[in-house]
Amino acid sequence: MDVINHFIAGAKVPAREGEILGEVFNPATGRVARKVCMGDAREVDAAVRAAAAAFPAWAATPPPARARIMLEFHAVIDRHADELAQIITAEHGKVLSDARGEVTRGLEVVEFACGMPQLLKGEFSADVGRGIDSWSIRQPLGVCAGITPFNFPAMVPMWMFPVAIACGNTFVLKPSERDPSASVRIAELFNNAGLPAGVFNVVHGDQRAVEAILAHPQVAAVSFVGSTPIAERIYATAAVNGKRVQALGGAKNHLLVMPDADLEQAADALVGAAYGSAGERCMAISVAVAVEPVADALIERLSSRIRKLVIGAGTAPGVEMGPLVTAQHLERVRGYIDIGIKEGAQLVIDGRDLKVAGNDDGFFIGGCLFDRVEPAMRIYREEIFGPVLSVVRVPDLEAGTKLISEHEFGNGTSIFTRDGAAAREFASRVQIGMVGINVSIPVPMAFHSFGGWKRSLFGDTAVHGPEGVRFYTRLKTVTARWPEARRSRADFDIPTTK
Ligand code: NAD
Repeated sequence: MDVINHFIAGAKVPAREGEILGEVFNPATGRVARKVCMGDAREVDAAVRAAAAAFPAWAATPPPARARIMLEFHAVIDRHADELAQIITAEHGKVLSDARGEVTRGLEVVEFACGMPQLLKGEFSADVGRGIDSWSIRQPLGVCAGITPFNFPAMVPMWMFPVAIACGNTFVLKPSERDPSASVRIAELFNNAGLPAGVFNVVHGDQRAVEAILAHPQVAAVSFVGSTPIAERIYATAAVNGKRVQALGGAKNHLLVMPDADLEQAADALVGAAYGSAGERCMAISVAVAVEPVADALIERLSSRIRKLVIGAGTAPGVEMGPLVTAQHLERVRGYIDIGIKEGAQLVIDGRDLKVAGNDDGFFIGGCLFDRVEPAMRIYREEIFGPVLSVVRVPDLEAGTKLISEHEFGNGTSIFTRDGAAAREFASRVQIGMVGINVSIPVPMAFHSFGGWKRSLFGDTAVHGPEGVRFYTRLKTVTARWPEARRSRADFDIPTTK
């Protein structure tokens, strides 16, 4: 059976004697497809040392020369996009077209990073005092680390490392142990594009590897994306250890449907956003907020669409929704259906009995729909991360906006309406980081920044876009005078322009 290796200092590193190997499943068949090295502090230390050794030369490489390597990387990934999509689908389970879309969204960050010389331009003030000029520049931090979730094994790492590396940092990635192959292939392709060895490294593992990253004195900054309890812990630990940190957490995204909305459009948008990638997206819609009297008509339209969902292996043609990532996650999602029924929500569509012919052991569940969900219920409060959509009925826009704003998560939300004033009011007042207006999954483009509010992001900066550049650089301000050769005297007061 294939073993997925670490990638350190420009080469794959085989398993060390006695190294634990984790199992990587094909979710469509339910069988173990490969094993993965599960590194600990030793592998993390080797990767961080490689990154630290590569840092001085890489930081000293002029930004346009770094950008040229990013351009080549872009071309190489583009050429291998179908191969990467196959790798993603084989370990994550999502359908191929969606996996291909994920690669494209990652590539957009590489495109953004190709413009880094422009983005790193500082500010200059001539004559801040007599004969004195001042300017500010942004410089790289050193070794940056990324710890990423299973649900976007290519895109989420690509939110981070292209920006960090184009800024002049070196990088150690600890991808999800559930679908780790894509990151190693990307590292190989990056090196083929001309990236010097050690600038980008991949270490596989779980909590032990993460703790070693957080404790390593040579790691300057940590970017994390994953579930909220882990994000919160990573944020606190990295900060205590003196590292710059951004930690993106979980979500419960609501889509509010106004009575004047085009209901066919809203139902299509909801079905795509709730059941695409089997609901395993941090920007998936898991709550439909129906502003009465729209609920019954909306549920009717949703139900007919959910019943027609084509569910199967992500590689099969025409399939719209694949399996969940692991058997444990499938059990967890099924558990939430039981909880919702016990809590008194009305299960309109039950996907639990789904069988996919020829894939009896795959981790499949059909689309599920709950109506009459109440804010106190666990199925409303907690992130399920599966193909389960809850409908909450509210009397008006005011009540809907309040409901959404009071949820502990604040990643994304959306409003469907034909009323510009209602949309404007919602976008302005709702306490959520990313807002869509007649757009169900408002994921910002790479040249904007991605990040939620409240318990969906711990830290001050979102990822990629201008906030990403700020996160991966630190400001230096230089004040300079070139005095003519004449006698000077010591000045004991703080310099002023007077
Ligand atoms: P996860 O939190 O289980 O794992 C994320 C990473 O943390 C993995 O690399 C994992 O190995 C590591 N990890 C797991 N347990 C750990 C522990 N106890 N200590 C230290 N590290 C640990 O998340 P997941 O299940 O892989 O991904 C799904 C979650 O990610 C969902 O909650 C989803 O909303 C979230 N997510 C958020 C965003 C966002 O932008 N906010 C994007 C994608 C995914």
